[in-house]
This record gives sequence, C-alpha cells and structure tokens, in this order.
Amino acid sequence: MTPERSPLTAPDCLFCRLVAGDVPATLVASTDDAVAFRDIDPKAPVHVLVVPRDHHADVGQLAAADPALLASVVRLAHEVAEDECDGAFRLVFNTGSEAGQSVFHVHGHVIGGTRLGWSPA
Ligand code: 5GP
Repeated sequence: MTPERSPLTAPDCLFCRLVAGDVPATLVASTDDAVAFRDIDPKAPVHVLVVPRDHHADVGQLAAADPALLASVVRLAHEVAEDECDGAFRLVFNTGSEAGQSVFHVHGHVIGGTRLGWSPA
C-alpha cells in the first residue's frame, strides 16, 4: 500500500531510507503507515522487523508522540506472525544502546518459527 502523505523522516536514517525504497529489503507486508521486512541477520527461523513509516527514535518516543501509530505497528506484527508462525511469536523493541538497539528508528522484532527460550541477558 502507498501512504497517503509523505512520512516524517530523519536524515541518514537507515530505516527511513529502506521505507523509501532507497535501501533494498525483502518486504513481507505493508500498510499505509507501517512496513514489515526480513531482518538481514536473522536470529530465528522467522525474524521480521516492523517499522512505522514515520521516523521515531524508539518505542517510548513513538508511544508518546503517536500511540495510534504504535498500535498499527503491533497490529502488523501480529498479522505477520499469524501468517508466518501461527501467531506464536515474541515482539521485541530493543530500546537504548545498552539494551542492544543499534538502529534508532523504532522497530519491533517479530521472532518465532521455533520454540523460544527465555534468557534475554
Ligand atoms: P536493533 O539492534 O536496533 O534492535 O535491531 C536492528 C536490526 O536491524 C538488527 O537485527 C539488524 O540485523 C537489522 N539490520 C541492520 N541493517 C539492516 C539492513 O540494512 N536491512 C535489514 N533488513 N535489516 C538490517
């Protein structure tokens, strides 16, 4: 789907460029306000990133600025998981470099396709 307006972007943001089609990616699904694509370095059989088209640095900033858009991201993540791993998935928003965030355009990791352990640290 094509968004009805140009998204808010940040200069030199990798995921803004990917959403714009300037960086290649394997797209999985998209809506007017969010895009899902495969992680370039998957950590599980299903590892899809879901991002809003608008630039927000992390999930806390997105929640404060545009909670409806956060809901759209979560809905798209759930749809991807329904299609790819029977709806059993983990949705991870690494937030801050100490927590492993390396790209500062908010993205949810949809992880699944195998039995998941629970040892984040
Ligand atoms: P973070 O570490 O910020 O939580 O997650 C960033 C994710 O983006 C990583 O899992 C990394 O593999 C993925 N990634 C980094 N660069 C690219 C890219 O150019 N294309 C895609 N599809 N994924 C990327």
